[in-house]
Amino acid sequence: MQESSTSWVVDLLSRLIQVDTTNPPGNETPAAKLLAEELEGRGVEYKLLESAPGRGNIVAWAESREPGPSLLLLSHLDVVPARAEEWSVDPFSGAVKDGFVWGRGALDDKLSVAVMLRVFLDLAESRGFKGRLIYAATADEEMGGRMGAGWLVEKHPELVRADYVLNEGGGFEVPGKRSVFLVQTAEKGVYWFRLKFKGRPGHASMPKSGDNALLKAAEAAVRLGRRSPPVSLNQHVKLFVERVLESRGVPSPFSKLLSAKPLVSLVPRLAGESAPMLDAMLRNTLAPTVARGGDKVNVIPSSCELSVDCRLLPGYGEEWVRSYVLGALRGLDYELEFIHRDQATESPLSTPLYAAIERAVSSEVPGALVSPYMSTGGTDSRFFRLAFGSAAYGFVPVRADVPLSELLKMVHGVDERVSVRNVEFCYKLTRRVLEVLFPGVTRGSRSRAHP
Ligand SMILES: [Zn+2]
Repeated sequence: MQESSTSWVVDLLSRLIQVDTTNPPGNETPAAKLLAEELEGRGVEYKLLESAPGRGNIVAWAESREPGPSLLLLSHLDVVPARAEEWSVDPFSGAVKDGFVWGRGALDDKLSVAVMLRVFLDLAESRGFKGRLIYAATADEEMGGRMGAGWLVEKHPELVRADYVLNEGGGFEVPGKRSVFLVQTAEKGVYWFRLKFKGRPGHASMPKSGDNALLKAAEAAVRLGRRSPPVSLNQHVKLFVERVLESRGVPSPFSKLLSAKPLVSLVPRLAGESAPMLDAMLRNTLAPTVARGGDKVNVIPSSCELSVDCRLLPGYGEEWVRSYVLGALRGLDYELEFIHRDQATESPLSTPLYAAIERAVSSEVPGALVSPYMSTGGTDSRFFRLAFGSAAYGFVPVRADVPLSELLKMVHGVDERVSVRNVEFCYKLTRRVLEVLFPGVTRGSRSRAHP
């Protein structure tokens, strides 16, 4: 049974990869139609909803007569671009070879599109659960989700509102003496802004004939780029560090390590190549990324713009940015304009879903630990945390059968692939999580066989 479920998921994953949903432009509808074919005739309700022509989202649901929790299985259909010439296989071939499924989306996020559909159908067909189970595979996540999950939350809240959301963004195994499986429980906010500097034009053969705006922008870039905002340790990161230490055999008690200062000094030693990630989990960050100013080599530029990618921890917002920049750029005249704002979000850790993940992990991987984790980038979970207060977790479990650094390179990178063993693992563990959450479900059985 398990074997046939795995091959069903592998086959669907392969076919999904063959539908090119590169975003932009997305064109997710053909992939949503493929899922609609799988849902047809299974006794579940579903809707294919386009947020714009070609931008397909699919939502399916199953409800029991008896009340119980509502859970949304969330994934996205779009993928980031792939440059075929850099890959060793056609990125849209969906080839299954050497024990792997290859192609853009194999990990991000068509693995969960396929796994979650199988798990959804298993539970819906078993009818053993009490509550409401929702499946949504959405458009546009890679470009911010406003034509996908964000659109569904706004236009069709009745379809996707749920107490719990299981989404991408976590689930990978960090190997150690004991493995740690990460659950994304929080994500930083995005506060991109632009600084405008003004000067006075002049002839560049006489630099002092003008007031060079480029120099002001350069000064600002250096100041913002070189200094680090103070450390601010939240519960997600604190527990994450504790669990990672525990997994590496660092003895208890940890309490003395957990005041911010020693922790920061430990970061590079503990984290190795993940030090930049851990550093970004400990504080707000600002990275100057784009400078535009001047258009003639012999003219002193009278204006210059500097764009900054700023990421904030939960609890921080626009006001913090304004006052931090004011302090950092003392003595410089500038105008600050936000170009993108998405607040940080977090979910509580003491929920039945989190507990279900812990129980499922310990039954599938004895001895493994589960840790909360705050991602430095955003996912669609934020829409559900903000609009409905859902407990949303990033948990698409995959084992570290390639080094984590390799795995992270494949996502949005070259030769993205997932092992068939990991497809099986992901399916089994995701299903186990739901069996624990919905105790009425009979383990290992389905009422109807699937082809
Ligand atoms: Zn993704």
